[in-house]
Amino acid sequence: MEKPYRLMTPGPVQVPESVLKELGRPMIHHRTPEFEKILTRVLGRLKEVFQTKQPVFIQAATGSGGLESAIVNTLSPGDKVVAIVSGKFGERWRDIAKNYGMNVISLEVEWGKALDPRMLDATLELHMDVRAVLTQACETSTAVVHPMKEIGRIVRAKSNAILMVDGITALGVMDLPMDAWNLDVVVGGSQKSFMLPAGLQFIALSEKAWDFQTRAKCPRYYWDLKEELKANKANQTRFSTPVPYVRALDAGLEVMLKDGLQSNITRFARLAKQLRAGGEKLGLKVYAEAPSPSVTAFVTPVDGEKLRDHLEAKYNITVMGGQDKLKGKIIRIGTLGYISEEDLEATLESLANALTDLGHSADGKSAVAAFRMVVRK
Ligand SMILES: *Cc1c(COP(=O)(O)O)cnc(C)c1O
Repeated sequence: MEKPYRLMTPGPVQVPESVLKELGRPMIHHRTPEFEKILTRVLGRLKEVFQTKQPVFIQAATGSGGLESAIVNTLSPGDKVVAIVSGKFGERWRDIAKNYGMNVISLEVEWGKALDPRMLDATLELHMDVRAVLTQACETSTAVVHPMKEIGRIVRAKSNAILMVDGITALGVMDLPMDAWNLDVVVGGSQKSFMLPAGLQFIALSEKAWDFQTRAKCPRYYWDLKEELKANKANQTRFSTPVPYVRALDAGLEVMLKDGLQSNITRFARLAKQLRAGGEKLGLKVYAEAPSPSVTAFVTPVDGEKLRDHLEAKYNITVMGGQDKLKGKIIRIGTLGYISEEDLEATLESLANALTDLGHSADGKSAVAAFRMVVRK
């Protein structure tokens, strides 16, 4: 019997039946009362996920489009920007800022470690004219979570800069209250905890960031949030809208918020803890010093790429390998989106078998037992 396919990566994630159904329904026009109603509901629910009173916007793009939108909406070429770089996604946002002509200071954090807030404090003290600080909440490539509350406090206390947060593998999985933590721009992506395929990005601006928006001289047309705001205020979107995606998002948010955002956050923190406990029983070391609840990176005793490929070919489970200098050294497993305990237990068992196949004998039963123990404690 063919084993069911499990997609266990930190995005894209598995898509629930209710979301898939929305993607297959007959098309309606985006300028109809029916769609307006859905749009209004979805935009309201996104505010719950962002934990903000500010409007949240949907723009048709992958998450990286959201990172670009954040830059062009708030900054002018030549602006001094601090980019916290702790992995591949930090590098990406830094490069976007560079390509738009920002004067970028790279704040390099050793891979696998979280930002030491004192480093940021010292940098801001040295550069009084910084206009923006860019960071990931979770750096997906190293599975590290940064101390966002503390970063928010420092940026507010020590500078006039706005804090821009790539929350793509954080929103909906861990606490990231935009208003309470002084986060000025937050970006999300549909293929992570929203349980859709890639294709939509979500972005919100604080009052301070809106003030930056009116002065920002970066050229923009498609990304211009001032124009999108005008349209949204009339329950409209500015451009042709990927209607099936927005309907699917409505269904995804329904799943996500069914028991409230906080219950989701508690659940994923627990699942990640269970996964780490199970993995350690297989002899896999957790790579990140400050591990994220949304993704776990394990250092592999055999070649990580071989393990990843074998797990997919023989056990029908897809996990991610490492990128760049971590290629072959780690595997990454997502705990976000539509994921059950059964998915994770099956992953641990298959991982044990795959490791054993590759010459590193591992005991899946004791891993599953450790996984289950975490709940009982
Ligand atoms: C997935 C992800 C992105 C988005 O990448 P796209 O492929 O453009 O959707 C950006 N940042 C982080 C931290 C991510 O995990």
